[in-house]
Amino acid sequence: MSENRTPTVHTLMSNAESKKYQASCHCQLIRYNVTLSPGLDDPDSWVVECNCSICSRNGYLNVYVQTECIEFETIGLESELVEKYRFGKQRVQHYFCSRCGSSIMAESIEPGFYEGVKALNVRMFKDVDLKTLQRREVDGRSL
Ligand SMILES: [Zn+2]
Repeated sequence: MSENRTPTVHTLMSNAESKKYQASCHCQLIRYNVTLSPGLDDPDSWVVECNCSICSRNGYLNVYVQTECIEFETIGLESELVEKYRFGKQRVQHYFCSRCGSSIMAESIEPGFYEGVKALNVRMFKDVDLKTLQRREVDGRSL
């Protein structure tokens, strides 16, 4: 296992073998596909468990991807049916379903700060056994 604690940002340019995941909120209003390279079952893959005030409440288990790794099937983040939430320094916008409340993803809205990167909650992914994922704690509270 890699000692590097900086989360991988998945891109479509990676040489690693990629895997495609179906994801959705609980009520299926928001459905999307995500390509990860490598996939979550790769021995070097891990998910982020962050201690910030919102991740600890919502139980986010995150992977980071370039926006190009996501294909929306139903509605996109700009839809008024997707709720947006910001707090504190207002750098990060969180998205959740207006109907079922599932917390699906977050992204930086501050230019130059993780621009073009989204944090995806892998709890929305279909057919992923959360117990098998390697988790790493990240100190998001101090960001
Ligand atoms: Zn929903």
